[in-house]
Amino acid sequence: MAVYVYRCDDHGLTERSLPIGTAGRTTDCPTCGSPAARVFTAPRLTLGDATRRALIDRTERTRDEPAVVSSPGPRPARRTPVAGNPALRRLPRP
Ligand SMILES: [Zn+2]
Repeated sequence: MAVYVYRCDDHGLTERSLPIGTAGRTTDCPTCGSPAARVFTAPRLTLGDATRRALIDRTERTRDEPAVVSSPGPRPARRTPVAGNPALRRLPRP
């Protein structure tokens, strides 16, 4: 069995698990029933758990379509210097 991916214009991607070599060019969208065209992807021959597959899909998507942010993230909290060790006070300062 292999997982084949189809894309409906209105409802996005859907997956079908079919024997190798039996996938058609289109399949019916499970939501609206209209023809969904096959999307050629790397073969996924094993059926891992959904969380792992979602992570792999998200990782591959960010490679080609990285998310755009409007501002940098929050600044990290300022770290307090280590004052307990006297050897650190003798180190050269910039
Ligand atoms: Zn649809």
